[in-house]
Amino acid sequence: SVKSRGRGFFSFYDVSLNASSALHTELAARFRPALQEGEFRLHFQPKLLLETLEVVGLEALIRWDHPEHGLIFPGDFIPLAEEQDFIVRLGRWIIDAVCRQLAAWRLDGVPLVPVAINVSARQLRDDKLTGDFIATLLEHGIEAALIEIEITESSLIEDTPVAQRNLDELARAGIRLALDDFGTGFSGLSRLKQLPISTVKIDRSFIGDIRNDTNDAVIVASTISLAHNLGLTVVAEGVETRDQLVHLKAAGCDQVQGFYLQRPVAAEQAAAILHKKIYSF
Ligand code: C2E
Ligand code: MG
Ligand code: MG
Ligand code: MG
Repeated sequence: SVKSRGRGFFSFYDVSLNASSALHTELAARFRPALQEGEFRLHFQPKLLLETLEVVGLEALIRWDHPEHGLIFPGDFIPLAEEQDFIVRLGRWIIDAVCRQLAAWRLDGVPLVPVAINVSARQLRDDKLTGDFIATLLEHGIEAALIEIEITESSLIEDTPVAQRNLDELARAGIRLALDDFGTGFSGLSRLKQLPISTVKIDRSFIGDIRNDTNDAVIVASTISLAHNLGLTVVAEGVETRDQLVHLKAAGCDQVQGFYLQRPVAAEQAAAILHKKIYSF
């Protein structure tokens, strides 16, 4: 089954995606049918409050259950979907799927937490993004406070007036914005001030070696301090060990996410996690 295949079961980069334009063409040709056939699915990874290890959010992460290639991770098709402009259509499906899932959980009496949706730069440049988003929330009876959007710092480099307007309007509608992979794409501190963001997510490349690499430790500590001074919440991504967790707690980080705490899981397991609510390690 799909679930028993671990991460790395199949990676196009193993067979050199960059060199294989035939594979590109094959995948791109299957995008639309795949959407119709229901081959895309969402997994969910919890965000935990560091102080109590309480689940305070989920992040939706897309997977493609390809009929021939098996489970494909987003790193292997999201860049292509962006290049082909399919991301706008796929992005609408993702927003709808998250709202549908929240409504189903609510009906089942599952205690809800906000779900974060990753949004690409290309989607931000879609002038229908905000209108579609709000219509989808209404359609499923989901309040904006249950949705968070994650945008990468690097996606802001291609900043346009439409993107800025989308972000402002989504924030005004009550959808919280998080800056993802923070520290990897230098957007400048002045951009932080202009954006209606509430959260920064420190990229996992700074977390992996935080115990030994003084530069990483300093970057993380400074980011936490800067974010707190701006009134923002800080999430550390990619926490893989207990030592990293201890370090981040001492550094005053607010929330954590990572394989040490919980790998991304399918909807049924996510519901069980929401019922359980608090982790202990
Ligand atoms: P991201 O938004 O920064 O998501 C975090 C990624 O790190 C996820 O990979 C997650 O499974 C992985 N991760 C979580 N904890 C750990 C850990 O402790 N160690 C390691 N090594 N990895 C960890 P995933 O699901 O393969 O997604 C990769 C990227 O693809 C995401 O990075 C995001 O940029 C993009 N993506 C995923 N889902 C969507 C989506 O629905 N829409 C869009 N536009 N992009 C998406
Ligand atoms: Mg993310
Ligand atoms: Mg990230
Ligand atoms: Mg990332």
